[in-house]
Amino acid sequence: MRIGIIGAGQLGQMLGFAARAHGYTCLFLDPSAKPPAARIGPVIQARFDDRVALAVLADKCDVLTYEFENVPVDALADVADLVPIYPPLDALRQAQDRLSEKQLFTALHIPIPEYRAIDSSDDLHDAAAAIGLPLVLKTRRLGYDGKGQFVLRSTGQVDEAWQDLGAKDLIAEQWVEFDYEASVIGVRSISGDIVTYCLTRNEHADGILRISRAPVEDAGLTEQANAHIRRLLRHLDYVGVLALELFVTGDRLLANEFAPRVHNSGHWTIEGAETSQFSNHVMAVAGAQPGPTGNRGHAGMVNLISHLPNAARQLTAGSLHDYGKTPRPGRKLGHITVVADSAAARDRLIDEICDSVTKSSSQAGTAT
Ligand code: AMP
Repeated sequence: MRIGIIGAGQLGQMLGFAARAHGYTCLFLDPSAKPPAARIGPVIQARFDDRVALAVLADKCDVLTYEFENVPVDALADVADLVPIYPPLDALRQAQDRLSEKQLFTALHIPIPEYRAIDSSDDLHDAAAAIGLPLVLKTRRLGYDGKGQFVLRSTGQVDEAWQDLGAKDLIAEQWVEFDYEASVIGVRSISGDIVTYCLTRNEHADGILRISRAPVEDAGLTEQANAHIRRLLRHLDYVGVLALELFVTGDRLLANEFAPRVHNSGHWTIEGAETSQFSNHVMAVAGAQPGPTGNRGHAGMVNLISHLPNAARQLTAGSLHDYGKTPRPGRKLGHITVVADSAAARDRLIDEICDSVTKSSSQAGTAT
């Protein structure tokens, strides 16, 4: 079995490691010269919308999947009759547009923050009057890690916000005073079997995930998260891993967005779960049954962003994953996972890691 993976970044790399462990080979497609997944298998160097390259990939592989959600759907649709593509293109299409994503959540009775589609600055004035301020204004398409967003705090900023985000196709969302952010990851096989991982608590800074902790020990929230993700997976006739990002407010969850792919908030599953999200994605798209998703303890994950200091390499606590990328401000270069017997022990390890990594990062010349 050969799996074609569109995108050869760190997610492709970790999918590739999992595929290799299951005896599958991988062929990647990516525009970069030396992407992280080149460590695992050959890469066709081409743009993601290069139809000739996609046709070559489809011809050489038994199944195609992708590691990020901004793959041009139309280009992929052109090769859909040559090879199965999972997750299904319809899921990808809906995830690419925040408006259709929210309409889907609403249709499936998954609670979300109040929102309005914004097609003019007048719409934005109306949304501010109807929903109240602050509002988060987001581009409908191609946003990630908090990019393409503007927090509107006064109506005096309406024109600036509208222009700043490109003056077209936006949505305005109620600002949620959440207690914390969380995510749930689910996997569905071709035959329709579903498994889910525990609810994970996530901390972001500047729109980028910094720390994940699992499990969230709250039966009520876990039940809601499971119900929501199962409904999504079934409705989309989904195959593979799907991640649902949530805001926690009291005993309630509000959905923010879903990602039709393996997700940064599930990296802890490599060491912290019986089967990693990467293994389960690979098995699902290859037509196998998903493996068990139980926890191996209390897991935590710290992202290494902008710098990968020597201190991170020297840590005895935790497993370092170095993606082999060139350091650049804001770039995810690796992560460290810890697994402990208790939540308190896990949190102490995370504190130690953050302390040493932060200290090292603040010294000049530590990036390697
Ligand atoms: P997103 O690209 O939608 O995942 O947003 C990136 C980050 O911005 C989220 O992880 C939140 O920390 C924050 N954010 C997004 N939408 C909202 C909202 N409606 N209310 C409060 N914070 C938000």
